[in-house]
Amino acid sequence: MVSRVRIAVVGVGPRGLSVLERVISHARSEGPPIELLLIEPGELGAGIHAPEQPDYLLLNTIASQLTIFSDEQMTPGAPVTVGPSFFDWCRARRSSVRFDDFLPRALLGKYLQWAARDLLSRTPARLQVHHLRTVALRVRPHGPGASVTLVNGTELHVDLAVVTTGHGLTTPEAADEVVGTPYPLPDRVAAIPAGTTVALRGTGLTSIDMIAALTVGRGGSFVDGRYLPSGAEPRIVLVNRCGWLPCARPVTPPDRRPAQPVHLTHAAVAELRAAAVHGRLDFRRDIEPLVHREALARMTSATAREIDTVERVLHPAEDSWPGYPQYTAALVDRARADLREAERGLGVSPVKEALEVLRDHREMLRAVVDPPGLTAESHRYFVADYVPLVNRAVIGPQKERMHELLALIAAGVVLPGPGPRPDLARTPTAWTLDSTRLRRPHRIAVDMVIEANLGGRTAVHGRDPVADSLRTWIGRYPGGHPLLDRDGFAVPRRGAAGPCAVAVLGPPAEGASYYNHYVPSPGVWSRVLTDLDRVLGRVIGVAPPAVRAL
Ligand SMILES: Cc1cc2nc3c(=O)[nH]c(=O)nc-3n(C[C@H](O)[C@H](O)[C@H](O)COP(=O)(O)OP(=O)(O)OC[C@H]3O[C@@H](n4cnc5c(N)ncnc54)[C@H](O)[C@@H]3O)c2cc1C
Repeated sequence: MVSRVRIAVVGVGPRGLSVLERVISHARSEGPPIELLLIEPGELGAGIHAPEQPDYLLLNTIASQLTIFSDEQMTPGAPVTVGPSFFDWCRARRSSVRFDDFLPRALLGKYLQWAARDLLSRTPARLQVHHLRTVALRVRPHGPGASVTLVNGTELHVDLAVVTTGHGLTTPEAADEVVGTPYPLPDRVAAIPAGTTVALRGTGLTSIDMIAALTVGRGGSFVDGRYLPSGAEPRIVLVNRCGWLPCARPVTPPDRRPAQPVHLTHAAVAELRAAAVHGRLDFRRDIEPLVHREALARMTSATAREIDTVERVLHPAEDSWPGYPQYTAALVDRARADLREAERGLGVSPVKEALEVLRDHREMLRAVVDPPGLTAESHRYFVADYVPLVNRAVIGPQKERMHELLALIAAGVVLPGPGPRPDLARTPTAWTLDSTRLRRPHRIAVDMVIEANLGGRTAVHGRDPVADSLRTWIGRYPGGHPLLDRDGFAVPRRGAAGPCAVAVLGPPAEGASYYNHYVPSPGVWSRVLTDLDRVLGRVIGVAPPAVRAL
Protein backbone atom coordinates (compact mmCIF):
# COMPACT_ATOMS: atom_id res chain seq x y z
CA MET A 1 0.00 0.00 0.00
CA VAL A 2 1.58 3.32 -1.11
CA SER A 3 1.30 5.94 1.62
CA ARG A 4 -0.62 9.12 0.95
CA VAL A 5 1.22 12.44 0.61
CA ARG A 6 -0.35 15.30 2.55
CA ILE A 7 0.42 18.90 1.53
CA ALA A 8 -0.91 22.09 3.12
CA VAL A 9 -1.07 25.35 1.15
CA VAL A 10 -1.32 28.20 3.64
CA GLY A 11 -3.04 31.14 1.93
CA VAL A 12 -4.58 30.71 -1.52
CA GLY A 13 -4.25 33.86 -3.56
CA PRO A 14 -2.52 33.68 -6.97
CA ARG A 15 0.59 31.98 -5.52
CA GLY A 16 -1.39 29.32 -3.67
CA LEU A 17 -3.38 28.79 -6.86
CA SER A 18 -0.12 28.09 -8.70
CA VAL A 19 0.59 25.35 -6.13
CA LEU A 20 -2.81 23.83 -6.95
CA GLU A 21 -2.07 24.07 -10.68
CA ARG A 22 1.34 22.39 -10.32
CA VAL A 23 -0.02 19.58 -8.13
CA ILE A 24 -2.86 18.95 -10.62
CA SER A 25 -0.36 18.89 -13.50
CA HIS A 26 1.86 16.32 -11.76
CA ALA A 27 -0.99 14.23 -10.32
CA ARG A 28 -2.13 13.20 -13.82
CA SER A 29 0.74 10.69 -13.94
CA GLU A 30 1.07 7.56 -11.79
CA GLY A 31 2.06 8.01 -8.16
CA PRO A 32 0.92 7.90 -4.56
CA PRO A 33 -2.43 9.44 -3.53
CA ILE A 34 -2.11 13.15 -2.70
CA GLU A 35 -4.25 15.10 -0.24
CA LEU A 36 -4.04 18.86 -0.73
CA LEU A 37 -5.32 21.11 2.05
CA LEU A 38 -6.04 24.64 0.83
CA ILE A 39 -6.19 26.88 3.91
CA GLU A 40 -7.82 30.17 2.94
CA PRO A 41 -10.54 32.08 4.85
CA GLY A 42 -11.97 33.71 1.71
CA GLU A 43 -12.74 32.63 -1.84
CA LEU A 44 -9.85 30.80 -3.49
CA GLY A 45 -7.59 32.59 -5.95
CA ALA A 46 -8.01 36.37 -5.86
CA GLY A 47 -5.81 37.17 -2.85
CA ILE A 48 -5.02 40.89 -2.80
CA HIS A 49 -6.88 41.43 -6.10
CA ALA A 50 -10.35 41.73 -4.54
CA PRO A 51 -13.13 41.59 -7.19
CA GLU A 52 -15.06 44.19 -5.14
CA GLN A 53 -12.47 47.01 -5.39
CA PRO A 54 -13.26 50.08 -7.52
CA ASP A 55 -12.39 49.94 -11.22
CA TYR A 56 -10.08 52.98 -11.04
CA LEU A 57 -7.51 50.79 -9.23
CA LEU A 58 -5.58 49.42 -12.19
CA LEU A 59 -3.13 46.58 -12.69
CA ASN A 60 0.49 47.55 -13.22
CA THR A 61 0.96 44.69 -15.66
CA ILE A 62 -0.45 44.62 -19.19
CA ALA A 63 -3.32 42.18 -19.75
CA SER A 64 -1.35 39.72 -21.93
CA GLN A 65 1.36 39.19 -19.29
CA LEU A 66 -0.79 37.41 -16.72
CA THR A 67 -1.94 33.81 -16.43
CA ILE A 68 -2.59 31.25 -13.72
CA PHE A 69 -2.31 28.25 -16.06
CA SER A 70 0.90 26.75 -17.47
CA ASP A 71 2.46 26.06 -20.86
CA GLU A 72 5.54 24.34 -22.28
CA GLN A 73 7.63 27.54 -22.27
CA MET A 74 6.81 28.31 -18.64
CA THR A 75 7.87 24.89 -17.33
CA PRO A 76 10.00 23.21 -20.02
CA GLY A 77 9.75 19.44 -19.89
CA ALA A 78 7.21 19.37 -17.05
CA PRO A 79 3.50 18.51 -17.30
CA VAL A 80 1.20 21.49 -17.79
CA THR A 81 -2.44 22.44 -17.25
CA VAL A 82 -3.42 24.69 -20.11
CA GLY A 83 -6.12 27.33 -19.82
CA PRO A 84 -6.90 30.86 -20.95
CA SER A 85 -4.50 33.64 -19.99
CA PHE A 86 -6.06 36.69 -18.35
CA PHE A 87 -6.07 38.44 -21.74
CA ASP A 88 -7.77 35.49 -23.53
CA TRP A 89 -10.32 35.25 -20.72
CA CYS A 90 -11.08 39.00 -20.95
CA ARG A 91 -11.24 38.89 -24.78
CA ALA A 92 -13.80 36.10 -24.62
CA ARG A 93 -16.00 38.46 -22.58
CA ARG A 94 -15.19 41.85 -24.14
CA SER A 95 -13.69 41.92 -27.63
CA SER A 96 -12.42 45.51 -27.32
CA VAL A 97 -9.72 44.56 -24.78
CA ARG A 98 -6.17 45.16 -26.11
CA PHE A 99 -3.15 43.01 -25.25
CA ASP A 100 -1.42 46.02 -23.66
CA ASP A 101 -4.36 47.38 -21.65
CA PHE A 102 -3.85 48.04 -17.94
CA LEU A 103 -7.16 46.60 -16.77
CA PRO A 104 -8.86 46.97 -13.38
CA ARG A 105 -7.41 44.83 -10.62
CA ALA A 106 -10.98 43.77 -9.77
CA LEU A 107 -11.15 42.03 -13.17
CA LEU A 108 -8.00 40.04 -12.41
CA GLY A 109 -9.64 39.02 -9.11
CA LYS A 110 -12.64 37.68 -11.03
CA TYR A 111 -10.38 35.78 -13.45
CA LEU A 112 -8.42 34.23 -10.57
CA GLN A 113 -11.60 33.10 -8.81
CA TRP A 114 -12.88 31.65 -12.08
CA ALA A 115 -9.53 29.90 -12.64
CA ALA A 116 -9.70 28.39 -9.12
CA ARG A 117 -13.11 26.87 -9.90
CA ASP A 118 -11.85 25.66 -13.29
CA LEU A 119 -8.78 24.00 -11.77
CA LEU A 120 -10.86 22.32 -9.06
CA SER A 121 -13.10 20.83 -11.75
CA ARG A 122 -10.03 19.16 -13.30
CA THR A 123 -8.48 17.29 -10.36
CA PRO A 124 -7.08 13.85 -11.34
CA ALA A 125 -8.27 10.72 -9.49
CA ARG A 126 -5.28 10.37 -7.17
CA LEU A 127 -5.63 13.94 -5.90
CA GLN A 128 -8.07 14.96 -3.16
CA VAL A 129 -8.44 18.69 -2.53
CA HIS A 130 -10.05 20.21 0.58
CA HIS A 131 -10.70 23.92 1.03
CA LEU A 132 -10.42 24.75 4.76
CA ARG A 133 -12.15 28.12 5.07
CA THR A 134 -10.16 29.30 8.04
CA VAL A 135 -7.11 31.24 9.16
CA ALA A 136 -3.79 29.58 9.96
CA LEU A 137 -1.87 31.00 12.90
CA ARG A 138 1.38 29.07 12.95
CA VAL A 139 3.54 26.91 10.70
CA ARG A 140 6.62 25.04 11.92
CA PRO A 141 8.67 21.90 11.32
CA HIS A 142 7.33 18.71 12.91
CA GLY A 143 9.50 15.62 12.66
CA PRO A 144 10.28 15.00 8.97
CA GLY A 145 7.15 17.02 8.04
CA ALA A 146 5.46 20.21 9.22
CA SER A 147 2.60 21.29 11.44
CA VAL A 148 0.03 24.00 10.73
CA THR A 149 -1.99 25.41 13.64
CA LEU A 150 -5.40 26.78 12.73
CA VAL A 151 -7.20 29.62 14.49
CA ASN A 152 -9.46 27.13 16.35
CA GLY A 153 -6.38 25.40 17.79
CA THR A 154 -6.46 22.37 15.47
CA GLU A 155 -2.97 21.19 14.55
CA LEU A 156 -2.58 19.63 11.11
CA HIS A 157 0.40 17.39 10.41
CA VAL A 158 1.54 17.34 6.81
CA ASP A 159 4.47 16.11 4.73
CA LEU A 160 4.97 19.59 3.25
CA ALA A 161 3.63 23.04 4.14
CA VAL A 162 3.86 25.71 1.45
CA VAL A 163 3.44 29.19 2.92
CA THR A 164 1.85 31.50 0.36
CA THR A 165 0.25 34.08 2.65
CA GLY A 166 1.25 36.84 0.23
CA HIS A 167 0.26 40.29 1.48
CA GLY A 168 -1.36 38.84 4.61
CA LEU A 169 -4.98 38.48 5.61
CA THR A 170 -7.38 40.37 3.39
CA THR A 171 -10.41 40.10 5.65
CA PRO A 172 -12.03 43.40 6.78
CA GLU A 173 -11.71 42.37 10.46
CA ALA A 174 -7.94 42.25 10.04
CA ALA A 175 -7.92 45.54 8.17
CA ASP A 176 -9.80 47.31 10.95
CA GLU A 177 -7.24 46.41 13.56
CA VAL A 178 -4.42 48.46 12.15
CA VAL A 179 -4.11 52.11 11.36
CA GLY A 180 -1.39 53.37 9.04
CA THR A 181 -1.52 50.71 6.33
CA PRO A 182 -2.43 52.03 2.85
CA TYR A 183 -4.96 49.34 1.87
CA PRO A 184 -7.79 48.50 1.40
CA LEU A 185 -8.75 51.44 -0.78
CA PRO A 186 -10.85 53.53 -0.82
CA ASP A 187 -11.80 52.65 2.82
CA ARG A 188 -8.41 53.72 4.17
CA VAL A 189 -8.80 57.28 2.90
CA ALA A 190 -12.58 57.62 3.31
CA ALA A 191 -12.30 59.66 6.52
CA ILE A 192 -10.01 62.34 5.04
CA PRO A 193 -12.18 65.48 4.87
CA ALA A 194 -12.47 67.51 1.67
CA GLY A 195 -10.35 70.66 1.72
CA THR A 196 -7.79 69.41 4.26
CA THR A 197 -4.14 69.15 3.27
CA VAL A 198 -2.72 65.66 3.39
CA ALA A 199 0.89 64.59 2.83
CA LEU A 200 1.46 61.23 1.14
CA ARG A 201 4.81 59.71 2.07
CA GLY A 202 5.92 57.87 -1.07
CA THR A 203 5.36 58.54 -4.76
CA GLY A 204 5.28 54.99 -6.10
CA LEU A 205 2.38 52.78 -7.14
CA THR A 206 0.71 52.84 -3.72
CA SER A 207 0.69 56.62 -3.74
CA ILE A 208 -0.74 56.62 -7.28
CA ASP A 209 -3.55 54.33 -6.01
CA MET A 210 -4.27 56.70 -3.12
CA ILE A 211 -4.34 59.74 -5.38
CA ALA A 212 -6.85 57.95 -7.64
CA ALA A 213 -9.02 57.13 -4.60
CA LEU A 214 -8.89 60.76 -3.39
CA THR A 215 -9.68 62.33 -6.78
CA VAL A 216 -11.47 60.16 -9.37
CA GLY A 217 -12.74 58.06 -6.46
CA ARG A 218 -14.39 61.20 -5.07
CA GLY A 219 -16.15 62.20 -8.26
CA GLY A 220 -13.43 64.20 -10.03
CA SER A 221 -12.79 63.56 -13.73
CA PHE A 222 -10.27 64.21 -16.48
CA VAL A 223 -11.60 66.00 -19.55
CA ASP A 224 -9.31 66.85 -22.50
CA GLY A 225 -6.22 66.43 -20.32
CA ARG A 226 -7.52 68.74 -17.58
CA TYR A 227 -8.76 67.75 -14.13
CA LEU A 228 -12.28 68.82 -13.19
CA PRO A 229 -12.50 68.68 -9.38
CA SER A 230 -15.65 67.53 -7.61
CA GLY A 231 -14.90 69.67 -4.57
CA ALA A 232 -14.67 66.56 -2.37
CA GLU A 233 -10.87 66.24 -2.72
CA PRO A 234 -8.28 67.12 -0.08
CA ARG A 235 -5.13 68.94 -1.21
CA ILE A 236 -2.43 66.30 -1.67
CA VAL A 237 1.27 66.94 -0.99
CA LEU A 238 3.76 64.40 -2.40
CA VAL A 239 6.78 63.62 -0.26
CA ASN A 240 9.65 61.21 -0.89
CA ARG A 241 13.36 60.74 -0.35
CA CYS A 242 14.64 61.35 -3.87
CA GLY A 243 12.33 64.26 -4.73
CA TRP A 244 11.45 62.94 -8.20
CA LEU A 245 8.34 61.30 -9.62
CA PRO A 246 8.62 57.67 -10.83
CA CYS A 247 9.29 56.94 -14.51
CA ALA A 248 6.23 55.99 -16.56
CA ARG A 249 5.94 52.57 -18.19
CA PRO A 250 6.79 52.82 -21.90
CA VAL A 251 4.71 51.65 -24.85
CA THR A 252 5.67 48.00 -25.43
CA PRO A 253 5.54 46.50 -28.96
CA PRO A 254 3.70 43.14 -28.89
CA ASP A 255 6.58 41.24 -30.49
CA ARG A 256 9.37 42.77 -28.39
CA ARG A 257 12.12 40.32 -27.42
CA PRO A 258 14.80 41.66 -25.04
CA ALA A 259 18.35 41.63 -26.37
CA GLN A 260 20.75 39.04 -24.92
CA PRO A 261 23.03 40.52 -22.23
CA VAL A 262 26.58 41.41 -23.26
CA HIS A 263 27.98 42.52 -19.88
CA LEU A 264 25.54 41.32 -17.20
CA THR A 265 26.12 37.73 -18.25
CA HIS A 266 26.02 34.47 -16.37
CA ALA A 267 29.75 33.98 -17.08
CA ALA A 268 30.63 37.44 -15.73
CA VAL A 269 28.65 36.89 -12.52
CA ALA A 270 30.03 33.35 -12.08
CA GLU A 271 33.59 34.68 -12.41
CA LEU A 272 32.93 37.38 -9.79
CA ARG A 273 31.41 34.80 -7.44
CA ALA A 274 34.37 32.48 -7.85
CA ALA A 275 36.69 35.30 -6.74
CA ALA A 276 34.50 36.47 -3.81
CA VAL A 277 34.86 35.34 -0.18
CA HIS A 278 32.29 32.54 0.37
CA GLY A 279 30.95 33.42 -3.10
CA ARG A 280 29.16 36.50 -1.71
CA LEU A 281 29.08 39.47 -4.04
CA ASP A 282 29.23 43.16 -3.27
CA PHE A 283 26.32 44.50 -5.30
CA ARG A 284 27.60 48.05 -5.60
CA ARG A 285 31.15 47.07 -6.52
CA ASP A 286 30.51 43.92 -8.59
CA ILE A 287 27.06 44.14 -10.15
CA GLU A 288 26.08 47.80 -10.56
CA PRO A 289 28.93 48.49 -13.02
CA LEU A 290 27.72 45.54 -15.14
CA VAL A 291 24.15 46.89 -15.13
CA HIS A 292 25.50 50.29 -16.08
CA ARG A 293 27.55 48.92 -18.99
CA GLU A 294 24.57 46.84 -20.13
CA ALA A 295 22.38 49.95 -20.19
CA LEU A 296 25.00 51.96 -22.10
CA ALA A 297 25.36 49.12 -24.62
CA ARG A 298 21.78 49.87 -25.64
CA MET A 299 22.59 53.55 -26.23
CA THR A 300 25.19 53.41 -28.99
CA SER A 301 23.24 55.90 -31.13
CA ALA A 302 21.90 57.98 -28.21
CA THR A 303 22.52 61.69 -27.69
CA ALA A 304 24.56 62.98 -24.75
CA ARG A 305 21.35 64.28 -23.23
CA GLU A 306 19.69 60.85 -23.44
CA ILE A 307 22.72 59.21 -21.84
CA ASP A 308 22.65 61.85 -19.09
CA THR A 309 18.94 61.09 -18.45
CA VAL A 310 19.69 57.41 -17.93
CA GLU A 311 22.72 58.18 -15.71
CA ARG A 312 20.55 60.37 -13.50
CA VAL A 313 18.03 57.58 -12.97
CA LEU A 314 20.59 54.82 -12.38
CA HIS A 315 22.89 56.99 -10.22
CA PRO A 316 20.66 59.61 -8.56
CA ALA A 317 22.64 62.65 -7.43
CA GLU A 318 21.83 64.69 -4.32
CA ASP A 319 20.35 67.62 -6.27
CA SER A 320 19.67 71.03 -4.73
CA TRP A 321 17.79 74.08 -6.11
CA PRO A 322 17.68 77.83 -5.46
CA GLY A 323 14.06 77.64 -4.28
CA TYR A 324 10.69 75.88 -4.41
CA PRO A 325 9.53 77.29 -7.81
CA GLN A 326 12.74 76.07 -9.48
CA TYR A 327 12.37 72.64 -7.85
CA THR A 328 8.74 72.17 -8.90
CA ALA A 329 9.52 73.37 -12.44
CA ALA A 330 12.38 70.84 -12.66
CA LEU A 331 10.14 68.06 -11.34
CA VAL A 332 7.40 68.78 -13.88
CA ASP A 333 9.91 69.18 -16.75
CA ARG A 334 11.56 65.89 -15.92
CA ALA A 335 8.21 64.06 -15.70
CA ARG A 336 7.13 65.54 -19.06
CA ALA A 337 10.43 64.52 -20.69
CA ASP A 338 10.04 61.02 -19.28
CA LEU A 339 6.49 60.83 -20.64
CA ARG A 340 7.75 61.74 -24.12
CA GLU A 341 10.19 58.81 -23.91
CA ALA A 342 7.40 56.53 -22.62
CA GLU A 343 5.21 57.53 -25.62
CA ARG A 344 8.11 56.74 -28.03
CA GLY A 345 8.26 53.39 -26.30
CA LEU A 346 10.57 50.42 -26.20
CA GLY A 347 12.47 49.75 -29.39
CA VAL A 348 12.41 53.48 -30.25
CA SER A 349 13.46 55.40 -27.13
CA PRO A 350 17.09 54.63 -26.21
CA VAL A 351 16.35 56.02 -22.72
CA LYS A 352 13.54 53.54 -22.05
CA GLU A 353 15.44 50.68 -23.73
CA ALA A 354 18.46 51.35 -21.51
CA LEU A 355 16.39 51.49 -18.31
CA GLU A 356 14.50 48.34 -19.35
CA VAL A 357 17.73 46.40 -18.69
CA LEU A 358 16.52 46.31 -15.07
CA ARG A 359 13.40 44.38 -16.13
CA ASP A 360 14.80 42.39 -19.01
CA HIS A 361 17.61 41.00 -16.84
CA ARG A 362 15.63 40.67 -13.65
CA GLU A 363 16.38 36.95 -13.56
CA MET A 364 20.08 37.79 -13.39
CA LEU A 365 19.48 40.21 -10.50
CA ARG A 366 17.54 37.43 -8.78
CA ALA A 367 20.37 34.98 -9.34
CA VAL A 368 22.77 37.52 -7.82
CA VAL A 369 20.64 37.70 -4.63
CA ASP A 370 20.06 33.91 -4.43
CA PRO A 371 22.37 31.97 -2.07
CA PRO A 372 25.30 32.44 -1.58
CA GLY A 373 23.98 35.92 -2.36
CA LEU A 374 25.49 39.19 -1.26
CA THR A 375 27.66 40.33 1.63
CA ALA A 376 25.62 41.45 4.65
CA GLU A 377 26.18 45.17 4.05
CA SER A 378 25.54 44.79 0.35
CA HIS A 379 22.33 42.82 0.97
CA ARG A 380 21.09 45.72 3.13
CA TYR A 381 22.01 48.20 0.38
CA PHE A 382 20.26 46.16 -2.28
CA VAL A 383 17.01 45.86 -0.32
CA ALA A 384 16.92 49.41 1.10
CA ASP A 385 18.29 51.44 -1.82
CA TYR A 386 18.56 49.51 -5.05
CA VAL A 387 15.12 47.87 -5.06
CA PRO A 388 13.40 51.31 -4.66
CA LEU A 389 15.62 52.62 -7.50
CA VAL A 390 14.52 49.75 -9.77
CA ASN A 391 10.90 50.40 -8.79
CA ARG A 392 11.21 54.10 -9.70
CA ALA A 393 12.94 53.32 -12.99
CA VAL A 394 10.88 50.45 -14.41
CA ILE A 395 7.98 49.55 -12.12
CA GLY A 396 6.32 52.93 -12.40
CA PRO A 397 2.74 53.88 -13.24
CA GLN A 398 1.08 53.66 -16.63
CA LYS A 399 1.79 56.76 -18.75
CA GLU A 400 -1.89 57.68 -18.65
CA ARG A 401 -1.65 57.87 -14.84
CA MET A 402 1.42 60.13 -15.10
CA HIS A 403 -0.44 62.44 -17.51
CA GLU A 404 -3.22 62.57 -14.93
CA LEU A 405 -0.77 63.31 -12.14
CA LEU A 406 0.63 66.26 -14.10
CA ALA A 407 -2.95 67.48 -14.72
CA LEU A 408 -3.62 67.25 -10.97
CA ILE A 409 -0.46 69.27 -10.27
CA ALA A 410 -1.57 71.86 -12.86
CA ALA A 411 -5.01 72.01 -11.18
CA GLY A 412 -3.39 72.61 -7.77
CA VAL A 413 -5.00 69.46 -6.30
CA VAL A 414 -1.60 67.76 -6.01
CA LEU A 415 1.40 69.72 -4.81
CA PRO A 416 5.05 68.60 -4.94
CA GLY A 417 6.55 68.57 -1.43
CA PRO A 418 9.37 70.97 -0.52
CA GLY A 419 12.11 69.02 -2.36
CA PRO A 420 13.92 65.78 -1.54
CA ARG A 421 14.18 64.48 2.03
CA PRO A 422 12.07 67.16 3.73
CA ASP A 423 12.05 67.35 7.54
CA LEU A 424 8.70 66.36 8.98
CA ALA A 425 7.75 67.84 12.36
CA ARG A 426 4.64 67.93 14.53
CA THR A 427 3.30 71.30 15.71
CA PRO A 428 0.45 71.61 18.27
CA THR A 429 -2.10 72.02 15.45
CA ALA A 430 -0.63 70.42 12.31
CA TRP A 431 2.44 68.95 10.68
CA THR A 432 5.16 70.87 8.90
CA LEU A 433 7.36 69.81 6.02
CA ASP A 434 10.58 71.80 5.76
CA SER A 435 12.91 71.70 2.79
CA THR A 436 16.46 70.42 3.27
CA ARG A 437 17.70 70.76 -0.33
CA LEU A 438 16.41 74.22 -1.30
CA ARG A 439 18.75 77.18 -0.82
CA ARG A 440 15.73 79.42 -0.08
CA PRO A 441 13.95 77.35 2.61
CA HIS A 442 10.36 76.37 1.99
CA ARG A 443 7.76 75.10 4.47
CA ILE A 444 4.43 73.38 3.77
CA ALA A 445 1.94 72.85 6.59
CA VAL A 446 -0.29 69.79 6.36
CA ASP A 447 -3.18 68.51 8.49
CA MET A 448 -2.40 64.85 8.08
CA VAL A 449 0.44 62.53 7.05
CA ILE A 450 -0.25 59.16 5.43
CA GLU A 451 2.14 56.32 4.69
CA ALA A 452 1.61 55.84 0.97
CA ASN A 453 4.18 53.11 0.52
CA LEU A 454 4.48 49.53 1.60
CA GLY A 455 8.07 49.98 2.70
CA GLY A 456 9.50 46.59 3.59
CA ARG A 457 6.08 45.31 4.67
CA THR A 458 4.38 42.56 2.79
CA ALA A 459 1.20 42.45 4.91
CA VAL A 460 -0.57 45.38 3.26
CA HIS A 461 -3.58 45.16 5.58
CA GLY A 462 -1.30 44.82 8.54
CA ARG A 463 -1.65 41.18 9.62
CA ASP A 464 0.17 37.99 8.70
CA PRO A 465 0.27 35.74 11.80
CA VAL A 466 1.91 32.91 9.85
CA ALA A 467 4.82 35.08 8.65
CA ASP A 468 5.14 36.27 12.28
CA SER A 469 5.27 32.65 13.46
CA LEU A 470 8.04 31.84 10.97
CA ARG A 471 10.19 34.56 12.50
CA THR A 472 10.32 32.63 15.78
CA TRP A 473 12.26 29.70 14.28
CA ILE A 474 13.68 30.60 10.84
CA GLY A 475 17.19 32.01 10.59
CA ARG A 476 17.40 35.63 9.44
CA TYR A 477 19.42 37.90 7.21
CA PRO A 478 20.96 40.91 9.01
CA GLY A 479 18.09 43.06 7.68
CA GLY A 480 15.57 40.70 9.35
CA HIS A 481 14.46 38.87 6.20
CA PRO A 482 13.78 35.13 6.54
CA LEU A 483 16.61 32.80 5.61
CA LEU A 484 15.44 30.50 2.81
CA ASP A 485 17.44 28.18 0.59
CA ARG A 486 17.51 28.55 -3.20
CA ASP A 487 14.23 26.64 -3.56
CA GLY A 488 12.37 28.58 -0.88
CA PHE A 489 12.72 26.01 1.93
CA ALA A 490 13.08 27.57 5.36
CA VAL A 491 16.50 27.37 6.97
CA PRO A 492 15.88 26.88 10.71
CA ARG A 493 18.07 28.73 13.19
CA ARG A 494 21.19 26.93 14.38
CA GLY A 495 20.37 23.93 16.55
CA ALA A 496 17.04 23.16 14.88
CA ALA A 497 16.49 19.88 13.01
CA GLY A 498 17.90 19.42 9.47
CA PRO A 499 16.05 19.50 6.14
CA CYS A 500 12.88 21.45 6.53
CA ALA A 501 9.42 20.63 5.11
CA VAL A 502 8.28 24.27 5.15
CA ALA A 503 8.66 26.28 1.94
CA VAL A 504 7.89 30.00 1.64
CA LEU A 505 6.97 31.53 -1.73
CA GLY A 506 5.74 34.90 -2.92
CA PRO A 507 5.86 38.19 -0.98
CA PRO A 508 6.90 36.71 2.43
CA ALA A 509 10.06 35.39 0.70
CA GLU A 510 11.08 38.90 -0.39
CA GLY A 511 14.53 39.82 0.88
CA ALA A 512 15.63 36.18 0.98
CA SER A 513 15.18 36.31 -2.78
CA TYR A 514 14.36 39.17 -5.12
CA TYR A 515 11.11 40.03 -6.86
CA ASN A 516 8.38 37.75 -5.59
CA HIS A 517 5.39 40.06 -6.11
CA TYR A 518 3.83 39.09 -9.42
CA VAL A 519 1.39 36.80 -11.18
CA PRO A 520 3.11 34.48 -13.73
CA SER A 521 3.30 35.43 -17.43
CA PRO A 522 2.34 33.02 -20.25
CA GLY A 523 4.80 31.89 -22.94
CA VAL A 524 8.02 32.65 -21.03
CA TRP A 525 10.07 30.64 -18.56
CA SER A 526 8.48 30.97 -15.13
CA ARG A 527 10.67 30.99 -12.07
CA VAL A 528 7.74 30.58 -9.71
CA LEU A 529 6.37 27.47 -11.44
CA THR A 530 9.76 25.79 -11.77
CA ASP A 531 10.60 26.66 -8.14
CA LEU A 532 7.29 25.08 -7.14
CA ASP A 533 8.18 21.93 -9.08
CA ARG A 534 11.44 21.78 -7.16
CA VAL A 535 9.58 22.17 -3.85
CA LEU A 536 6.90 19.59 -4.73
CA GLY A 537 9.55 17.25 -6.14
CA ARG A 538 10.67 16.54 -2.56
CA VAL A 539 7.38 14.87 -1.63
CA ILE A 540 5.46 13.80 -4.73
CA GLY A 541 8.23 11.85 -6.39
CA VAL A 542 8.78 13.91 -9.53
CA ALA A 543 12.27 14.74 -10.67
CA PRO A 544 12.88 18.37 -9.66
CA PRO A 545 13.87 20.59 -12.61
CA ALA A 546 17.44 21.88 -12.53
CA VAL A 547 18.04 25.44 -11.34
CA ARG A 548 18.10 27.35 -14.59
CA ALA A 549 21.51 28.35 -15.89
CA LEU A 550 21.01 31.92 -17.03
C1 LIG B 1 -1.78 46.99 -4.40
C2 LIG B 1 -1.07 45.91 -5.16
C3 LIG B 1 -1.14 45.87 -6.56
C4 LIG B 1 -0.52 44.86 -7.28
N1 LIG B 1 -0.59 44.84 -8.64
C5 LIG B 1 0.01 43.85 -9.34
C6 LIG B 1 -0.06 43.79 -10.77
O1 LIG B 1 -0.62 44.66 -11.40
N2 LIG B 1 0.54 42.76 -11.41
C7 LIG B 1 1.19 41.76 -10.73
O2 LIG B 1 1.70 40.82 -11.36
N3 LIG B 1 1.30 41.81 -9.38
C8 LIG B 1 0.74 42.82 -8.67
N4 LIG B 1 0.88 42.87 -7.32
C9 LIG B 1 1.78 41.91 -6.65
C10 LIG B 1 1.10 40.75 -5.91
O3 LIG B 1 2.07 40.31 -5.00
C11 LIG B 1 0.73 39.58 -6.83
O4 LIG B 1 -0.08 40.00 -7.88
C12 LIG B 1 -0.06 38.46 -6.12
O5 LIG B 1 -1.16 38.97 -5.43
C13 LIG B 1 0.77 37.62 -5.19
O6 LIG B 1 0.01 36.50 -4.84
P1 LIG B 1 0.04 35.85 -3.41
O7 LIG B 1 -0.91 34.71 -3.45
O8 LIG B 1 1.45 35.56 -3.03
O9 LIG B 1 -0.44 36.97 -2.38
P2 LIG B 1 -1.92 37.58 -2.08
O10 LIG B 1 -2.53 38.03 -3.33
O11 LIG B 1 -1.73 38.57 -1.00
O12 LIG B 1 -2.74 36.34 -1.48
C14 LIG B 1 -2.46 35.80 -0.22
C15 LIG B 1 -3.64 34.98 0.26
O13 LIG B 1 -3.28 34.35 1.48
C16 LIG B 1 -4.36 34.43 2.41
N5 LIG B 1 -3.81 34.40 3.76
C17 LIG B 1 -2.96 35.31 4.30
N6 LIG B 1 -2.68 34.99 5.56
C18 LIG B 1 -3.36 33.84 5.83
C19 LIG B 1 -3.48 33.02 6.97
N7 LIG B 1 -2.85 33.28 8.10
N8 LIG B 1 -4.27 31.93 6.90
C20 LIG B 1 -4.93 31.60 5.75
N9 LIG B 1 -4.85 32.37 4.63
C21 LIG B 1 -4.08 33.47 4.69
C22 LIG B 1 -5.06 35.74 2.06
O14 LIG B 1 -6.42 35.71 2.49
C23 LIG B 1 -4.90 35.80 0.53
O15 LIG B 1 -5.99 35.20 -0.11
C24 LIG B 1 0.24 43.88 -6.58
C25 LIG B 1 0.33 43.92 -5.18
C26 LIG B 1 -0.31 44.93 -4.47
C27 LIG B 1 -0.19 44.96 -2.98
